[in-house]
Amino acid sequence: MELRLYDTLSREKRTFVPLDPKNVRMYVCGPTVYDFAHIGNARPVIVFDVLFRLLRHLYGEAHVKYVRNITDVDDKINDRAARDFPGLPLNEAIRKVTEQTGEQFHADVDALGCLRPSVEPRATEHIGEMRVIIERLVKGGFAYVAEDHVLFSPQAMNAANSTLPRYGALSKRSLDEMIAGARVDVAPYKRDATDFVLWKPSKPGEPSWPSPAGIKAEGRPGWHVECSAMAWKHLGEHFDIHGGGIDLVFPHHENEVAQTCCAFHRERMANYWMHNGFLQVESEKMSKSLGNFITIHELLADWPGEVLRLNMLKTHYRSPIDWTMKSLEESAKTLDDWYRVAADVAPGEPAASVVEPLIDDLNTPLAIAAMHGLRGGDVGALAGSLRLLGFLSESAAQWEGRKQQASGVDPKEVEGLIAERTAARSRKDFKESDRIRDLLAAMGVAIKDSKDGTTWEFSR
Ligand code: AMP
Ligand code: ZN
Repeated sequence: MELRLYDTLSREKRTFVPLDPKNVRMYVCGPTVYDFAHIGNARPVIVFDVLFRLLRHLYGEAHVKYVRNITDVDDKINDRAARDFPGLPLNEAIRKVTEQTGEQFHADVDALGCLRPSVEPRATEHIGEMRVIIERLVKGGFAYVAEDHVLFSPQAMNAANSTLPRYGALSKRSLDEMIAGARVDVAPYKRDATDFVLWKPSKPGEPSWPSPAGIKAEGRPGWHVECSAMAWKHLGEHFDIHGGGIDLVFPHHENEVAQTCCAFHRERMANYWMHNGFLQVESEKMSKSLGNFITIHELLADWPGEVLRLNMLKTHYRSPIDWTMKSLEESAKTLDDWYRVAADVAPGEPAASVVEPLIDDLNTPLAIAAMHGLRGGDVGALAGSLRLLGFLSESAAQWEGRKQQASGVDPKEVEGLIAERTAARSRKDFKESDRIRDLLAAMGVAIKDSKDGTTWEFSR
């Protein structure tokens, strides 16, 4: 069985051949930690968790290294810190914001059933590597210093007579068109409109570090160089897979490739570039002004994390996803059923009918359809398949118990009402038995009568 992945650079599905099968290496751009993550941010986290699990299944747990960074230096973090902790020195306030937000992020993605990556580097702990990359770029003639900034020149990159990739290759944009379409109000220190920042001066009070390239004033890195530095430190100059949301292809990933390839004279940074599609809510773009902006944290108050996870994986990762209440309700029903039939059985090997679509560019909707097919047959294989995809972290009793807790209904009270209803039915008082059934329904309890008596469950 061979794994095939869609590569954004070559625009095709290709057989995955790792550089070293004993050390399969993947980098995914992580969160900027300034606020609760929204459900769109959960998409790359879940999608690449599935890929991480699949790679571990195929190559062995000890042979896969997954790096997802934490961006802890950013204007949005500074603004938030100044707003929330006006009494504190800015650097201390920033530490509070990044620590709190980082913890919230971990709690959220743990609840979504995502494994922690092998390494979660923080940008502020890799300033040294950033400086090295920037120095190399300046020495190589790909970057220059102007007014205490260091700027990368895509035009210098494309003028170089070498095996470097062309700037624009990943996002399929032509540099000439970018130049022609450039805005007029370009920062005065830039030689060309397409140049981007590698390093910039810090404002007074802002986090700052000694600058590279002979700049006297202290400064801070640009966003793109952070990922080049962290990927280099933890995965090397050239590695297997680089991922993130589709919005990151340009400029972020285009710039990462430019920095890494020019600094290390490489033809490639990653062999496979993978991007998830965007998430929208009830057919609308998610935004604060539309009032449909939902955090993972808020959703977790109403739904178990695995329901959110299943709901995400019902759509192929490259397609846009429409996040709806209706679909969430269906996902919850499906998981209730799977927990009942598969959570307490000994898991077997994941079924071939599930693994085959997964290795075909992570076709999770087909894998889920195959699991529905296993439900009435090989439940051991269903259990193994569900676990491979990061489900069934609880026993059936825990799952049911959590639902009861969430509903706030006392099972003893339910049993009592059912006994009253049975008594009413046996004296043919159907008005009373219907009243009790409606009452139970209003409590979120569904009942089922059979010749062996009445059973019940929470219907949510
Ligand atoms: P950000 O915090 O905006 O840098 O985003 C962190 C990650 O979430 C990136 O990989 C983004 O591409 C991804 N992302 C942000 N918004 C969405 C969305 N609505 N749907 C899918 N992915 C998203
Ligand atoms: Zn990145």
